[in-house]
Amino acid sequence: MKDCIFCKIIKKEAPSKGVYEDDLVYAFHDINPVAPIHILIVPKKHIFGIQSLEQEDEHIVGHMFYVARKIGEEFGLASPDSTKGGYRLVFNVGEHAGQSVFHLHLHLIGGRSMSWPPG
Ligand code: 5GP
Ligand code: ZN
Repeated sequence: MKDCIFCKIIKKEAPSKGVYEDDLVYAFHDINPVAPIHILIVPKKHIFGIQSLEQEDEHIVGHMFYVARKIGEEFGLASPDSTKGGYRLVFNVGEHAGQSVFHLHLHLIGGRSMSWPPG
């Protein structure tokens, strides 16, 4: 998509700090982190969001979660340590839920303790 910032990042037409890449996804540090570790896992295919996910693309979402697991391990978030262990995976779906970029992305947020419910 021509004016999509994440498409530009994937095509390396805009800068990013990448942490993982394969045929289906690219993962990079969020420009405005809400925690010590805040990584976006983004499919290379332009998908608007979960609200318009087609069944033919469901394997992409499954892969995004698998990559999240790998990144969580790489960043030491899979340890049982109570302050560093654990992380949150978030899809914001629609503007009311906080979605601001309409190219599907999974937030991986960690490195601090978190509360529930989210704001
Ligand atoms: P959303 O609000 O749509 O769930 O999440 C979009 C995320 O993308 C936000 O956390 C925002 O900080 C991040 N973001 C927006 N533009 C850019 C950018 O150009 N580069 C990077 N690395 N992150 C971005
Ligand atoms: Zn896009």
